[in-house]
Amino acid sequence: MFVDQAEITVKAGDGGRGAISFRREAKRPKGGPDGGDGGRGGDVVFFGDENINTLLDFKGRPRWEAVNGEAGRSKQQYGLAGEDLVVKVPPGTLVFNKATAELLADIGPGDQRVIARGGRGGFGNDHYKSPTNQVPRKAGPGEPGERIELRLELKLIADVGIVGLPNAGKSTLLSVISDARPKIADYPFTTLTPQLGIAELEPTRRLVFADIPGLIEGAAGGAGLGHEFLRHVERTRVLVHLIDIAPPDGRSPADAYRLIRKELAEYSEQLAEKPEIIAINKADVLGEAEAEAAVKAFKKELRLGHGEPVLLLSGATRQGMRELLEKCWAMVRPKIENWTPAEPVVEKRVRPKPGVSR
Ligand code: GDP
Ligand code: MG
Repeated sequence: MFVDQAEITVKAGDGGRGAISFRREAKRPKGGPDGGDGGRGGDVVFFGDENINTLLDFKGRPRWEAVNGEAGRSKQQYGLAGEDLVVKVPPGTLVFNKATAELLADIGPGDQRVIARGGRGGFGNDHYKSPTNQVPRKAGPGEPGERIELRLELKLIADVGIVGLPNAGKSTLLSVISDARPKIADYPFTTLTPQLGIAELEPTRRLVFADIPGLIEGAAGGAGLGHEFLRHVERTRVLVHLIDIAPPDGRSPADAYRLIRKELAEYSEQLAEKPEIIAINKADVLGEAEAEAAVKAFKKELRLGHGEPVLLLSGATRQGMRELLEKCWAMVRPKIENWTPAEPVVEKRVRPKPGVSR
């Protein structure tokens, strides 16, 4: 339904050439062939990294190559194998061959799958020795590594759902914190299409937000959001409940809050049980002191304790955005402290040291 896509080309390493070489020993003028085999090319391996939740990194980087194997050497030594390229992708990534549309892999958390295989190294001339040819001047070329054009597809799962009455500023908030650009209108009942956006705290810390327009908007228009969307938002980890600081219909922010809580409970028990960040929006329409007073009155009316923070935001001036994102982050990813960057890493694989090839 919400699909993040990217197209990339992966290229595994070519195998190294075999060597043509002959033993040279002082006392044996006619030494035999001793050319070693070329090294294997590195594979392109996909790894399902739970620290990644979008395919954004691939948009700016279309080519991914593993290292070629080294050529064989004299004295029957292997060439070094090329290093594998480990490409970190979000779990849930489907890897398709772009040309044939064949599904090559469905990468789960922690999965490692070879997507493009490195070429085998060529034989050294040592291999071509035969009773009739004691001095073969021939060696095998390395096999080329696989090159595949891929289409990656990820079903985006929203980490955070934004709920609130029509006109609370949900679409605006989403457009401010993310690179999604949902439709923004000046009147209610316009946003029935759920929108997703990716917010980037840093390139390595991203959150997927869903604007959940449904609820009252959907009920009023008789247009539900559909089960698929419901299932989707039920997998969010946190809700941001957005409330207009001065609702245009004159109701109090606390009333607006209660109304949505009621709708939520009726709409989906699972959604209603999510942890919630309460955020009073459009702080810019009041003066600073007035806005603070409004938050106080809101907390008092709902009998919220001191320990229950209510954020003060403005999508228009971006007040409070950083705090909101950090708070969402802390609730969505509480356990992960050291974030590993979504950069590819070249990893060492256990491989034979250069040495005698047979
Ligand atoms: P939604 O129905 O919850 O998606 O609300 P929208 O994002 O469509 O916003 C409804 C109206 O409120 C629009 O006219 C927005 O321009 C306006 N709006 C949204 N955020 C703010 C804000 O922070 N301050 C002010 N003053 N207006 C806002
Ligand atoms: Mg909207």
